[in-house]
Amino acid sequence: MSKERDVLRRFLIGNHLRGEWVRLNTTWRTVLNRADYPKAVCQYLGQALTATALLSATIKFDGKITLQIRGTGPLHLLVAQVNSNRGVRCTAKWRSAIPDAVSSLHEVFGADAQLLISVNTSGGQERYQGIVDLRGSSLSEALETFFLQSEQLPSYFWLHSDMTCAAGLMIQKMPGAPEDDDSLNRVKILSDTVTAHELINLDAEQLLWRLYHEEGVSLYEPQEVHFECHCSSERTRQLVRSFGAEEANQILSEEGAIAVTCEFCNACYTFDAIDVAQIFNADATGHDGNRTRH
Ligand SMILES: [Zn+2]
Repeated sequence: MSKERDVLRRFLIGNHLRGEWVRLNTTWRTVLNRADYPKAVCQYLGQALTATALLSATIKFDGKITLQIRGTGPLHLLVAQVNSNRGVRCTAKWRSAIPDAVSSLHEVFGADAQLLISVNTSGGQERYQGIVDLRGSSLSEALETFFLQSEQLPSYFWLHSDMTCAAGLMIQKMPGAPEDDDSLNRVKILSDTVTAHELINLDAEQLLWRLYHEEGVSLYEPQEVHFECHCSSERTRQLVRSFGAEEANQILSEEGAIAVTCEFCNACYTFDAIDVAQIFNADATGHDGNRTRH
């Protein structure tokens, strides 16, 4: 059984390639335990979460990376996020059965679907956003297109996800590598031999040695990855405030309380008439009317 669980490892191959390897065990099962996703949705969600974790090594400040696919297909929204502490979370929205075997992601996400990757500071300031039309038959292919089109940075992904584990590998040409360097082609051919079984069962050192020992690999120390949702009572109060007093009171009169469920972790925040009065009273007086719940 593999020893490395919920771990990200960076590595270098030769002089011009960098890579990441990640495996999510408890992290991924925490996601699955908090929502009732159909199996076909899990496959895409687990791969998106893995890809996002692989990208986390590129955050150089206190912030987060969000990967999003949105379209009008049966699976019309997929969101995966990672922060600079390597806390990950994800969610999906679907409206009908997802086809099992597809020749194009368009069958799953819709012909108009787009892939977005954005980088924000923890204060919400946007540092980067890239958008491309979703192309290819797999999330790996779609990401390869993204990095080529929006970054001109050749990058390859191998992603696997099942109901217990999500794991993946990324190889990227380093900025400034010589044009005629063909190590990426050699390493891609070697990486294409990787199996789901190896991604799930081999630890990074074993796997990278098996794949790249002739190329020379330097492996960095493991970095822990975990599930983390940053929803909070205060953020949800702000959401209720954004409804406006009239709409909030309308919901109160119809439902008796305002219940907001976090799409990422399924936490439920409930606001009764007193809470709602305080939220809008705080607006009017400029003071926060938060009260302690017992
Ligand atoms: Zn949450």
